Amino acid sequence: MISPERIRSNLDLVRARIKAAGGDPGSVTIVAVTKAWPVDVARAAIAAGLEDLGENYAQELEAKAASLATNAPAGVPKVRWHFIGRLQQNKVKLLAPHVALWQSVDRPEVGRQIARYAPGAAVLVQVNATGEPSKGGCLPARVPALVRELGELGLSVQGLMAVGKHGDLAATADAFRQTVALADQLGLPVRSIGMTDDLEVGVRCGSTMVRVGRVLFGERPPRPADSRLGQLGVGN
Ligand SMILES: *Cc1c(COP(=O)(O)O)cnc(C)c1O
Repeated sequence: MISPERIRSNLDLVRARIKAAGGDPGSVTIVAVTKAWPVDVARAAIAAGLEDLGENYAQELEAKAASLATNAPAGVPKVRWHFIGRLQQNKVKLLAPHVALWQSVDRPEVGRQIARYAPGAAVLVQVNATGEPSKGGCLPARVPALVRELGELGLSVQGLMAVGKHGDLAATADAFRQTVALADQLGLPVRSIGMTDDLEVGVRCGSTMVRVGRVLFGERPPRPADSRLGQLGVGN
């Protein structure tokens, strides 16, 4: 199990990378992506001072959040859970008690479910700016309308999120620049761009929030397709 000390030194590395890319580490929120790791890694991340944790799968977020909530050490700041994965309408109810920021809202149907189970919740619109059909996200041309629709549902739209193109930093930079230009145009302060492999690109494009897993915790353990919860070390 990775130690809080090790995570803390990896966190220093993330802050140094942000600074070297011309960013201000004090004004870029670091979301620690704990997906595929047991809940004890989330505990170690919290002990290392991280307060924002991200997950891609609804059941995994729910299980870890519930486990942390029932064994919360006194004096530890409350974790802010970020949902960053593909969001299915039928998972919103399960997630609603736990999620502080819904980062991957990409269509009005999902917004309606969030407004129903978590009225007034803070959300980001995920933008698919790399033109990859396999990716989640709202097409850039649709983003202004979706932002307006989510506002009309009473949700608090705080910004935009985007995922770069794997192995293509030039295309990633284009996508991030387009995302930031849209956020500027719409007056949205939060720009969630940059992961372990494209952190610097995100920061140079104006990131205010990076979502990092591997740089903090190392390579993720393989994820068995059908025994996911068994891997989490929760419930026992
Ligand atoms: C997995 C994931 C991350 C973190 O990726 P790393 O390469 O481990 O930093 C960030 N954002 C999303 C949407 C992810 O799926």
